[in-house]
Amino acid sequence: MSLGIVENLIAELSKLPGIGRKSAQRLAFFIMTMSKEEARGLAAAILELKERAGFCQQCFNITDTELCPVCRDPGRDASRICVVEEPSNLVVIENTRSYRGLYHVLLGSLSPLDGLTPERLKIRELLERVARGGVEEVILATNPNTKGEATAQYLASLLKPMQVRVSRIAYGLPIGGDIEFADEVTLTKSLEGRREI
Ligand SMILES: [Zn+2]
Repeated sequence: MSLGIVENLIAELSKLPGIGRKSAQRLAFFIMTMSKEEARGLAAAILELKERAGFCQQCFNITDTELCPVCRDPGRDASRICVVEEPSNLVVIENTRSYRGLYHVLLGSLSPLDGLTPERLKIRELLERVARGGVEEVILATNPNTKGEATAQYLASLLKPMQVRVSRIAYGLPIGGDIEFADEVTLTKSLEGRREI
């Protein structure tokens, strides 16, 4: 067996977000220990995703139908839209089971230096949804980092004149953590975001 085959897989895996060369090596060697059926299942799932999945016409979640299961669910509260950067963020919020409204996936965050200008994100589509009416609150759940913050500020400036409540998810300390180990920015933000109990 040529080692080039393993190198090839490692190179492909390294292209995935958050996967450095070390992780890619670990994954590649794990895949080598998989049965042929398991490996075929993994490869087939990747291909199926690329062949069948697209973006929801309304919220840009990943789906294999015109509207995603969240948008199709009549039990969801259509008066709330939670704005996230990526479909994976939507999945994490869904897993909490604490949110029953709809979503809007921007497919990125503002980063003009990387070519991510407002036109490249699904911002126009969000404004159109709000303009159609029936939306009472837009929850900005972009990441609490520089790009996510800039995106949230930009969206708030566009949404506020539209007679809709605009909120930002709270910044806080990790549950089970210790104030002593919190960084100053997080601690400052959690003081600012305090609420009555
Ligand atoms: Zn949808």
